[in-house]
Amino acid sequence: MSEAALILIKPDGLKKSLTGNILTRLSETKLEIVGSKMVRVPRSLAEEHYKHLKDKPFFNEIVQYLQGELHDRKKVMALVYWGEDAIKKCRDLAGATNPEEADPTSIRGSYGRITTSGVYENAVHVSSNPSEAEREIKLWFSPDELIVDLYPKKEVVEKEFKRKLWA
Ligand code: UDP
Ligand code: MG
Repeated sequence: MSEAALILIKPDGLKKSLTGNILTRLSETKLEIVGSKMVRVPRSLAEEHYKHLKDKPFFNEIVQYLQGELHDRKKVMALVYWGEDAIKKCRDLAGATNPEEADPTSIRGSYGRITTSGVYENAVHVSSNPSEAEREIKLWFSPDELIVDLYPKKEVVEKEFKRKLWA
């Protein structure tokens, strides 16, 4: 069944100049990229993204990690991959959460590390199941930013809506 997965190239992946390598590895899946952008991550977005881990002792550190506070790279690359078994295909290529336990040929096994304080810097995020993927994709992308209709949407007319156009 076709499904979508949110992929984030995290700040360590960007700092290590791994964008090309990671996208090349993910292209092995033959999935379609239906959305992509660079994002500056406010704390509220990082906290919401990792809310399933908010009771963990490392929560604050992974929020800072996703914001780029640990890497002097205050951005992530967000992508949506779509196609047959997208989540499993992307998670298999990403490898286990702990880079020391990840298959050495996987993305995390190749490029991840554990910091001295114990945080897993593992270069990529991949959604873990379809409902998490939906929650995450809706968090990171608006409907207009995706080239396919993934989820039901609504149209609203906003009056005093301010946005920037090229001058
Ligand atoms: N993480 C960590 N230590 C842990 C578990 C998780 O540093 O013991 C970090 C790691 O960067 C991971 C992220 O928190 O990618 C989110 O954890 P999750 O359990 O959702 O793993 P994932 O879905 O990313 O494999
Ligand atoms: Mg997860």
